[in-house]
Amino acid sequence: MTPRSTTGTSDITGTTRLAVDGLRRDLTGEAFAPGDAGYDEARMIFNGMIDRRPAVVAQCASEADVALSVRFAREHGLEIAVRGGGHSVAGMSLTDGGLVVDLRHMNSVTVSPSDQAARVGGGATMSDLDRATQPYGLATTGGRASTTGVGGFTLGGGSGWLERKFGLACDNLLAAELVTADGSTVHASLDENPELFWALHGGGGNFGVATSLTLDLHELPEMSFALLLYRPEAGREVLRAYRDLMASAPDEAGGALLYITAPPEDFVPEHLVGTLVCGVLLTCTGPSARARDLAGLLLALDHESEVITDIPYADLQCMLDDPPGMRNYWSAEYLDAFPDEAVDLFCSHVADMPVPSASQHVLFPMGGAVARGPAEYPLPWRSARWAVHPFGIWESPSDDERGRQWVRQVRADVRPWSTGAVYLNFIGREGSGRIVAGFGAENYARLAAVKAAYDPDNVFHLNHNIEPAVAR
Ligand SMILES: Cc1cc2nc3c(=O)[nH]c(=O)nc-3n(C[C@H](O)[C@H](O)[C@H](O)COP(=O)(O)OP(=O)(O)OC[C@H]3O[C@@H](n4cnc5c(N)ncnc54)[C@H](O)[C@@H]3O)c2cc1C
Repeated sequence: MTPRSTTGTSDITGTTRLAVDGLRRDLTGEAFAPGDAGYDEARMIFNGMIDRRPAVVAQCASEADVALSVRFAREHGLEIAVRGGGHSVAGMSLTDGGLVVDLRHMNSVTVSPSDQAARVGGGATMSDLDRATQPYGLATTGGRASTTGVGGFTLGGGSGWLERKFGLACDNLLAAELVTADGSTVHASLDENPELFWALHGGGGNFGVATSLTLDLHELPEMSFALLLYRPEAGREVLRAYRDLMASAPDEAGGALLYITAPPEDFVPEHLVGTLVCGVLLTCTGPSARARDLAGLLLALDHESEVITDIPYADLQCMLDDPPGMRNYWSAEYLDAFPDEAVDLFCSHVADMPVPSASQHVLFPMGGAVARGPAEYPLPWRSARWAVHPFGIWESPSDDERGRQWVRQVRADVRPWSTGAVYLNFIGREGSGRIVAGFGAENYARLAAVKAAYDPDNVFHLNHNIEPAVAR
């Protein structure tokens, strides 16, 4: 990660500094203010484009630390950001001049094999979760990068390789413990505070800081994948075949079609490393022989390489990890159909990918348990059949405009087939209309009422913000 400028102490006032020293004494965890060794590291997040300077980063070690930090921030008029895995593309886990409730050290995972459930700290990463459940042959839907935070991911919905089999991550949320805007603790489950529990299925960090989440686990004795790489010129033919294959695929098949630059990994033949390829990753919640069967239609096409293998789920989860510190801008559109015209438009954007060595042009199949999942939750995008996810990543600020423009153009081109709903975790700040589209208008109004009950002053606003309903 590119180191950012070293800090002076001039960006917080003497009064705030004295107060921060007091906070530091009271916390079990640590606090970093400008000028402290470790401050720059504490304020780094995944997207290297985001460079903000909080007055203090409170690295909480307990629920009591979280409550203390929230009360402290309110008392001193500091804006609050909540940081789990730091993967928000818009940098919503960082504030300029405010306080970051940093949960990264609250990352314990306790697995109860008899209940098939895991209690996960609010700052745990996917890797913390997957590595803890793997020894029991248990798993739940997780994000496709091992460094993503379970908190931000799950509360926003949570889409991953297992979703067609086990549903979205939030469909597997059994309970959550929250510190709310007044620093008090609230438990949410189907039986306790059910309206809040409902809102936590997609409503993100709007209602408080989740200090722990309890997740349902599933037996996953076997996992495998088929990874096929094709020349980019074959993309249209491959995409059409992939579309037809996934249209009738069973729930055990997941994955993605993606244009990427082939990385120097064991599963990539030497002659392809560093070149742009069209890849299909077919994940399978069964043995590799089954993955081979499922991939039949794709194997029949002329391909450059194939790897079909069994793999522990936790290892699959880090297979596509991206390095932090690059410049990121992404978005998404959720489609009802993917006719040949959409295929052509999708593939036509390969030529203008911003710095293709880093960017990814991704198509996720939806359906299966995602589509069948509980319709009552505020996730109207779950019924779409396809998710187009242009993932612009580059290194130089001089590519910023080109990178953003590429993402926007991909979206614009596939919009004729869009359902209009969007998964908010896959987008940055795109305006209030997109937030309403993320929930649907009726759900938004209901979420706004929950927001008014738990955070009437909109203390937690660095997120895809739901404005508290105004009492009549
Ligand atoms: C490389 C990469 C891969 C990704 N892959 C996927 C994927 O496969 N599937 C998918 O669905 N998404 C994916 N995402 C998107 C990801 O789910 C969202 O960015 C999510 O918000 C990240 O959560 P975080 O805790 O890491 O982020 P942070 O930046 O730490 O937090 C983002 C927001 O989430 C909220 N938040 C985080 N933790 C808590 C908590 N404990 N309590 C309350 N609020 C909290 C806060 O509002 C915060 O502003 C990916 C992102 C990246 C960078």
